[in-house]
Amino acid sequence: MAQSKAMTGVYIACAATACAVAAVVVANRMKARSQKTTARKILLEFQEACDTPLSRLRQVVDAMAVEMHAGLVSEGGSKLKMLPTFVDRLPDGNEKGLYYAVDLGGTNFRVLRVQLGGLEGRVIKQEYEEVAIPPELMLGTSQELFDFIAAELVSFVAREGDDFRLHEGQSREIGFTFSFPVKQTAVNSGTLIHWTKGFKVNDAVGQDVVAALQRGIERRGHKMRIAALVNDTVGTLAGGRYWNNDVMIAVILGTGTNACYVERAENVSKFTGEIPESGQMVINMEWGNFWSSHLPRTFVDELLDNESLNPGEYGFEKMISGMYLGDCVRRVLVKMAQEAGIFGTNVPHKLLEAFSLRTPDMSKMHHDDSSDLKVVAEVLKRVYGIQNTTVGIRKIVVEVCDTLCQRGARLAAAGIVGILKKIGRDGSTANGSVRRNNMFEQGDMNGYHDELPVNYTSDGRTVVAMDGGLYEHYIEFRNYMQEAVVDLLGEGSKNVFIELSKDGSGIGAALLAASHAEHVPSTF
Ligand code: ADP
Ligand code: MG
Repeated sequence: MAQSKAMTGVYIACAATACAVAAVVVANRMKARSQKTTARKILLEFQEACDTPLSRLRQVVDAMAVEMHAGLVSEGGSKLKMLPTFVDRLPDGNEKGLYYAVDLGGTNFRVLRVQLGGLEGRVIKQEYEEVAIPPELMLGTSQELFDFIAAELVSFVAREGDDFRLHEGQSREIGFTFSFPVKQTAVNSGTLIHWTKGFKVNDAVGQDVVAALQRGIERRGHKMRIAALVNDTVGTLAGGRYWNNDVMIAVILGTGTNACYVERAENVSKFTGEIPESGQMVINMEWGNFWSSHLPRTFVDELLDNESLNPGEYGFEKMISGMYLGDCVRRVLVKMAQEAGIFGTNVPHKLLEAFSLRTPDMSKMHHDDSSDLKVVAEVLKRVYGIQNTTVGIRKIVVEVCDTLCQRGARLAAAGIVGILKKIGRDGSTANGSVRRNNMFEQGDMNGYHDELPVNYTSDGRTVVAMDGGLYEHYIEFRNYMQEAVVDLLGEGSKNVFIELSKDGSGIGAALLAASHAEHVPSTF
């Protein structure tokens, strides 16, 4: 009896434990569900704030065209700097000889040499080397930075094989790709306006960067001539144009973002002096600094901007480019972790660290097509030590990536269409294609819609040369962007071609060194 009582007692105790366990399970489930509900709510609100319907994109297109015009009319007329590059000749395939390029302005620093053989031989041979920029040089002194570049260049030249040959009497001519905003006074001189993309070498601002590099080279006892100072967009334009006469615009979507295009020289002659024979000049837009009230800004953009090295500047770049996209995603996840506890009761410490989520990891998660989203789980674990996420939470993470990728891509598309509109290549001209004459005519959009002299192109085709790791590797980004360009242009899109012009910026700078060389070999 006593035993049975005791047993009953045990039985009752067990039942109570089972109840408690069940209650915990139910409570956990409810918590998970409420976490998901709150996270979903945050997601929906965020998606709404990021929304880019066609109507809004059209406003961005128009704003881009209007700002381009304003930036050309007067210095400081727009946040778009619209910098004349003094590049009035683009390579056409006739270039001959040995030329070099150095490329600073991204994740890696590059040196390149190319042997050009004219229309017949084209690119006979090219070689390049790439080195990561030591992070301390990005924040050090100007002399350290330019000495580093000069040393790499000199050592690259010293290791040249016999199959690269300078023409009799030819000095080494270099195209210097420097992908930061520069105020140029000639094709081969210009002063740095300010740094972007995480560089902050303060004593370089206001300096002539060509002279700085030239001094670095001379300190090593070498003589070379920097024939052209360009940025990566201008290099990409030149690299694209070398092969295809219809290339009018170049856009970089990499660590940063920028665009350049071919403008009527007449429109900038008050800044550059006489109008070059070609009647054209490449304009470096510095479109990363584009600003419009139509941009869909969110709490993420405010926070990111406030904490950035250049607050209030480069708002477009901060919404679009590879340096920032991952961090935008991280900031939404922080909010979800803090307010909905999606990663448990404590917010993972590392998640609070700026730039801890890199865009390639964002794109990896976004492209995860496994049913249980195991790539997402892997990235969250590897980067943040987050374990045991539910598939539901992982889905939300993917949607955050998708929202920001889509917003960035569609805004980039609107930017491109804005440029097309400015140069009258958006297919909206009366006869549906570009007029085939040589006159400079005003278009129909209150003077913002200009037309270029079109003897340079065939069949009214316009090619946009694209480059940059974001565009190249982030497939969803590229798809969203192309889709939006087509939607915006409608019928006009059949004459517009967006083409990856990979690594054009390096070879493009060398090609510009060739077309702006002091001594051009006539025969080789
Ligand atoms: P840079 O712009 O630094 O000259 P790249 O054009 O190669 O160099 O672009 C590198 C940038 O591209 C990286 O900083 C990163 O943001 C982005 N990127 C590279 N790979 C990927 C990827 N797989 N998915 C998304 N973005 C990527
Ligand atoms: Mg680059």
